[in-house]
Amino acid sequence: VIWVLGALGLLLLADALRLRARLSALAVLAPSDEPIAAEHRFLVAPGVSLDEATRRAASDHARREGLEVLDLVPLDLRTRDALALAQVVDPRRYRQDRLAFGHTAGHALLVHAAVLERAGVDPPADPVSFARGAVRLKRFASTSSERAVAPGLRAVADNPDKRLAVLQALRGRLWPLVLAGTPLWLALLALGVVLEPLAGLVVLGLFHAQLLLAIMGTRLRPRDLPWAVLLRAPLELWDWGRTVVGRWRPGPDPYEARRPLYDALLAGGIGRFFEARREDCPLCGGRDLVRTLRTRDFQQRKPGRFTLDRCRDCGHIFQNPRLSVEGLEFYYRDFYDGLAGEDLEIGFSLTRNEYVARAKAVQGSVEPARWLDVGGGHGHFSAFARDVWPACRFDGLDLSESIEEAEQRGWVDRAYRGLFPEVAPTLAGAYDVVSMSHYLEHTREPKEEIRAAHQALRPGGVLLIEVPDPASRMRFLLGRWWVPWFQPQHQHFLSLENLERLLESEGFSPFARHRGEAHLPLELLGAASMLLAHLAPEPFPWHPPSRWRRARYAPVWILGAPLLLLGRLVDLALAPLLRRPGWSNAYRVLARKIG
Ligand SMILES: [Zn+2]
Repeated sequence: VIWVLGALGLLLLADALRLRARLSALAVLAPSDEPIAAEHRFLVAPGVSLDEATRRAASDHARREGLEVLDLVPLDLRTRDALALAQVVDPRRYRQDRLAFGHTAGHALLVHAAVLERAGVDPPADPVSFARGAVRLKRFASTSSERAVAPGLRAVADNPDKRLAVLQALRGRLWPLVLAGTPLWLALLALGVVLEPLAGLVVLGLFHAQLLLAIMGTRLRPRDLPWAVLLRAPLELWDWGRTVVGRWRPGPDPYEARRPLYDALLAGGIGRFFEARREDCPLCGGRDLVRTLRTRDFQQRKPGRFTLDRCRDCGHIFQNPRLSVEGLEFYYRDFYDGLAGEDLEIGFSLTRNEYVARAKAVQGSVEPARWLDVGGGHGHFSAFARDVWPACRFDGLDLSESIEEAEQRGWVDRAYRGLFPEVAPTLAGAYDVVSMSHYLEHTREPKEEIRAAHQALRPGGVLLIEVPDPASRMRFLLGRWWVPWFQPQHQHFLSLENLERLLESEGFSPFARHRGEAHLPLELLGAASMLLAHLAPEPFPWHPPSRWRRARYAPVWILGAPLLLLGRLVDLALAPLLRRPGWSNAYRVLARKIG
C-alpha cells in the first residue's frame, strides 16, 4: 500500500509540473492602440462582456501571430476551468496539431470572417453552442487557432445544469472518460487514508496542494484558488455530482427528432436491406463456400444479422447475403454524419501517425504533384499528407457530404462527391497517385473501383491500397469482437494474394507490400468499445424507446471508461509485436499503372 501511495504521490507531482508548464506557456494579450481589423469578428458567450480594449488587443495579437481563431481566456478563470484547460491543451503544440481537440475557456472567441463563414458557425445562444462552435472552428482553422489570456476579460460563473452538455460538446464520445477520472482518484485517495492513515493523508494533502503547484505563478490568477486548494476533495465530488445530474439540453432531443424517420424505414421489416444469398464466390466463381462468421452491428446496434462466407477455393471472405443499395443507405445513415458523425473524429485523431506513414509510403516510387484520395471522408488523410508533400495538390472523393466539408476545411483542394466508377471518366489520366485507405472493403465491386483508379491515374502513376488483413491471427483470437469485421459495412476481405491478382488483371503491376507497417493499434480499444455499446447502446432512434436503456447508458460508459483506456494502452504496448505478417490487422499494397 505504501508503494502504491508513493506512486500516486509521484504521479500527482509529475502531473502538477506538466500542467504548470502548459499554463505558463499561455500567451498574454498586450494592450494595443491599433483599430480592430475589419475581418475580425467576435463570438461572445451569453453573460460575458468583452470591452473595446480587449477586442483591440485580441485583434492586434491575432494579426501579428497570423491567427484566424483566438480563444480569449479570462485572467481570473476559475480553478476548475483552468485545470480542465491545462489537462486538454498543450499551448506549445496546439497550433501545429491539426487534430488537437478544439477547446475553449467558454467566454469569447475572435474569428476571421472568412473562417466563420466557411464553418457556418452562428452567434452562440448558450454555452453548449458556444463550445460546439469552438470545436468546429478549430477544424476550419486547424493550424491557425490559438488562445491567449485576456487581462481585461472577467470570468463568469457557469450553470451547473449545462455542464454535462458542454462537456459532451467539447469532448464528444470521450466525455465518460473525463467523468470517470474524479471518482477513481477520490476512491483511491480515500482507500489510502483508510488503509495507511499517515501516508494516505500525506498523499491527500498533496492532491490538494497540486492545484497550487499547477496554477500559482502561471499566467492565470483564479480568484477561487485558496478555497479550491483547501476544499479540493469535497468540492470536486460536489462538482462531479452536479455535472452528472445535469439534464439541460439545447433544443429538442436529436434522437427523438429522427424517430419518425426510422419508424418509417423499419416499418416494412429489414428484408429489403439484403439481396439474395449467392452460391458462388464473387472473386473466383468457386462454389465451395463455408460460413465464417455470423454477427450483429456492434458499432451502432442497428437491427439485423450479418453473415460472412469464405470461399474454400481462393480464401476470399465476403458478406453473403450482401446488403442491397437500400440496405447500404440504411446502415450508413447517421454513421459518418448526422447523429454519430462527431464520434468518428476521435477515432480519426488516434491514427495521425498512420496518416503520415501512409503518405510517406510512396516515397521513392513517385514524386506526386496531384493526388486523389478515394473514400476521403472529412479529409483527415489529405490534411496530414500535405505536410509530407507540400507541393502536391490533394483532391478527395467520397459518397457522403463529408467530402464537401473537407474542402471547406481546406483539407482537400477539391471535393468530388459520388461513386468512383461514375466520376473516374471525367478525371482520366489526371493523377500521379490514387489512394484508397480502408475504402475498398466497403465497396460492392472492388474490381470496378480498381478499374476506376486505372482510369484516373496517368501511365506510371501509383495506386495505394490499404485494407484489413484477413490473414491476421487476431481475427481468431478476438472472434466477432475483432474490429476490422466492421459489420455490416465491410463487404469484402481481400487477402493480399487475391488483391495482387486482381490488380494484375486490371493493368497494374504491384511493386510493394507493407504488412506490419499498416497495422492500426485500435483493436482492443475497438473491442472494449463494442462491448460497452453492447451492454449499453446509445439511445439511437432505431431502438424502441426505453427508459431503462437511457438510464443505463451514462453509468455503464463512465464505469467502463477505464476499460477503453486500458484497451488503448494495450494496443499501443502490443503494436510492436503485432506489426508482423500474420498478426497485423491491415496491409498496404502499392501498384503501378502499366500502359
Ligand atoms: Zn473464391
